[in-house]
Amino acid sequence: MARISEEKIREIRSKADIAEVIAKYVPITRKGRNYVCVCPFHDDHDPSLSISADKQIFKCFVCGAAGNVFGFVSRFENISYVESIVKVAEMVHVDVSEYDKSESYEKIDPRVSAIHKVNQAAIDYTNYSLKSSLGSSVVDYLHQRGIQDNLIEKFQIGYNPPNDALYRFLHAKKFADKDLVESNVVRLTSSGIHDVFANRIMIPIHDRQGHPIAFTARRFGSGEEAKYINTQETICYIKGNVIFNYHRAKEICRQTKRVLLVEGAMDVIAFEKVGIGDVVATLGTACTKEQIALLKGLHVRVDVCYDGDEAGINAIYKFGILASDMNLEFEVVNNKTGLDPDEIIEKYGREELISLSNKTISWIDFLFEYLQKKYNLENYSQRVEFAKLLQSQIEKVREQFAKEQAYKRLQELTQFDMRTQTQTKKVSQKIVQSSKAGSAAEYEILSEMLLSLQACNRFKEELGFLPHSVCNKLAIYIIDAYRKSNTIEIADLLSAIAEEEVRELLIELSDWDLAPLEYNPKVFKDACTKIKISCIDHEINKLNDLISKISDPLKKGEIGNQIIKKQQEKMELMNHQLIQ
Ligand SMILES: [Zn+2]
Repeated sequence: MARISEEKIREIRSKADIAEVIAKYVPITRKGRNYVCVCPFHDDHDPSLSISADKQIFKCFVCGAAGNVFGFVSRFENISYVESIVKVAEMVHVDVSEYDKSESYEKIDPRVSAIHKVNQAAIDYTNYSLKSSLGSSVVDYLHQRGIQDNLIEKFQIGYNPPNDALYRFLHAKKFADKDLVESNVVRLTSSGIHDVFANRIMIPIHDRQGHPIAFTARRFGSGEEAKYINTQETICYIKGNVIFNYHRAKEICRQTKRVLLVEGAMDVIAFEKVGIGDVVATLGTACTKEQIALLKGLHVRVDVCYDGDEAGINAIYKFGILASDMNLEFEVVNNKTGLDPDEIIEKYGREELISLSNKTISWIDFLFEYLQKKYNLENYSQRVEFAKLLQSQIEKVREQFAKEQAYKRLQELTQFDMRTQTQTKKVSQKIVQSSKAGSAAEYEILSEMLLSLQACNRFKEELGFLPHSVCNKLAIYIIDAYRKSNTIEIADLLSAIAEEEVRELLIELSDWDLAPLEYNPKVFKDACTKIKISCIDHEINKLNDLISKISDPLKKGEIGNQIIKKQQEKMELMNHQLIQ
């Protein structure tokens, strides 16, 4: 199967109007020939993202997010560029079924893909042994816990029998011991290579693209060892970067407009038992910044549903402080039972778990309750601490009425009116630092090259390179684009560029206030001359540097001559510029 061709990508891009596509995700407003909307890529309240209908690109003036239609979709949906092409193709009814979309275009490190293969083989084997006679008592146990065959299938639950069964299987399949050890399905000990998960129930963990990267494994039967163990960190499994079930849940979350965050894989499965699928787990109670960033990428509200025990409630507090710092929209599931999801089903039934998952309170309400237990409000200094902590969180509340109400409640509890210092509206828009790469002359040249093939040809004759490396890369992309077509569409050129910084430069150029409107040979030549002169200056500086470092009079004289020659060259260029 062939990869999606450039022509096909251009066809999809030209059929998909960027404004129409963005409007499928966020409401947009017309503004002259263009459109604006609230930027979904930063915490935006006023529309900062503008969509150019002419150029078919978007750009946020606050956070700098920019690109063409594929760039928007891949960013919004948190999917790869290729996945976004397929997605947009579906929207505009272009058939891409004959193309290979399974292999991501991004190069996968061979060591990473070796681990994926080992893990997939381990899944296949442990799934098989669960269904074999070796696993019959395990299946009974799973059924007893309410995990029926459809869930076993869905979560690819398997069984790793004892006596190094998995290692023997993988070894027979000719996997290299090195890859097996690196995947952490086996470990090297003084007595040889042994299974890490012997006699355990195996639940595979995937990355957000769905590659199998690790396992969480439960001890089968009673024993001394830990009840749950996970794969140790490997080059493709960094614990704090992974969210369990993300690749399955993300589609459902888009429909339900929320994601339920739970502690463990078994909690995800418990919710699946009652038909709730928009559930993911942090695999442990400590949520990291990377995990919160992943959750943000879903663009839906997060409902935190940790266990109702003390550890769970403390974990919600830690999560909330981090999440509110990162401007994540979230609520807290009010689990007062002190139980985990499975225990709730067992004790109160399926309906209770379903209804619980919809009972949420705000972060501020959670905090009032949580902190009142931690602080003694009869004590003045503790009361001050309490008020300050709450104030810092209340300030982040978006809805004015909720904010007012929270301050009122805080005042009733502490007698402090914390509003006074903070009611002035803060305008703290971060202005994007323009990534000005290169000189004005380089900008002029690139802009004209984008406008006309003639300018591009002239560039090849006159200069053939640009001093700034990012500018030079863009020049090469432009030359390459003219090999296929006589005109350039910025939105198409964007799809061809691999480097983020080059894409940024292109968008900056297309948005450059001083950009020329048409190819002007005189202006173009002047810009080329400027660059030549600046290159000569650079060389003269280098030679001067050299001359100051050497003592040999002969060599000094030689370099001196070179400098004079360069200066003459420069004079000629400058004179020529004046005559014209
Ligand atoms: Zn933005």
